[in-house]
Amino acid sequence: MTSYKELGLVNTREMFAKAVAGGYAIPAFNFNTMEQMQAIVQAAVECKSPVIMQVSKGARAYANGTILRYMAQGAVEYAKELGCENPQIVLHLDHGDSFEICKECIDNGFSSVMIDGSHLPYEENIALTKKVVDYAHAHDVTVEAELGVLAGVEDEVSSAVSHYTKPEEVVDFSTRSGCDSLAISIGTSHGAYKFTREQCTLDPQTGKLVPPPLAFDILAEIEKQLPGFPIVLHGSSSVPQDEVDTINKFGGQLPDAVGIPEEQLRKASESAVCKINIDSDSRLAMTAAIRKHFAENPGHFDPRQYLKPARENMKKMYIHKIMNVLGSNDKL
Ligand SMILES: [Zn+2]
Repeated sequence: MTSYKELGLVNTREMFAKAVAGGYAIPAFNFNTMEQMQAIVQAAVECKSPVIMQVSKGARAYANGTILRYMAQGAVEYAKELGCENPQIVLHLDHGDSFEICKECIDNGFSSVMIDGSHLPYEENIALTKKVVDYAHAHDVTVEAELGVLAGVEDEVSSAVSHYTKPEEVVDFSTRSGCDSLAISIGTSHGAYKFTREQCTLDPQTGKLVPPPLAFDILAEIEKQLPGFPIVLHGSSSVPQDEVDTINKFGGQLPDAVGIPEEQLRKASESAVCKINIDSDSRLAMTAAIRKHFAENPGHFDPRQYLKPARENMKKMYIHKIMNVLGSNDKL
């Protein structure tokens, strides 16, 4: 048994309360590699931002959960070495799909877990979430739950269609399950292909796809039902078109990749939305930098030569999100 407190990590309770009150959102960046971890920590320290480092099932399969835990511990020490006296870093399990996996993470140093019972019938979602909450709270670990289903594909999580969260269920669900935050479905979507061509309109100027707007009316109704309660948005990458263009220019094939416009995420950040999940944008930033580097330097074969610009490009993206979209800078 290793408590996250021994590792210098924090849970989300105080962080979310401040974010809701302050009208900003905490970045939740997925990580799988050392370069991603370094870029996240550098960006958070330079911007003086709290940060959630999250681990998906796919990340655990790729990198090994134990290694990722030690990387998060390393992230805290690295932040201090970079001059941050009191780093506010959460190690979060993204899309936990069973009580057992949540318990394993809590027992091994995670400070926050998500139990995703959104595919279950309503009462079963409550029962599973409550079971995780009871165990987690006994260890001062915070729990994110989900109501409503997001469309899209992300690691092991996929659904062909989305079902918006029903505002009339949120009070009953959060009260009976005891969750600390609630992921809702208002039109965000997992992956780099969030919408089909048919769901989008076409910008006549650029020829690019314009995605449908988020359901801010549902968000407003949820806030009315649960004033001040921390709300989470998954699937909130913007799929920056300059990165997509770079990838395609240097041999990639990502036609019609489209994300959530940043203006909409900025608007959401100012509401009770206090955690915004971003994964695909980091993948795109890394891939764009590597493709460009290989095209321009065909003789390079030392991974450090192409992972360094990849890390720089991810860091630039993380800083942009913190400063210009989520507003979590200067909060430490
Ligand atoms: Zn998600």
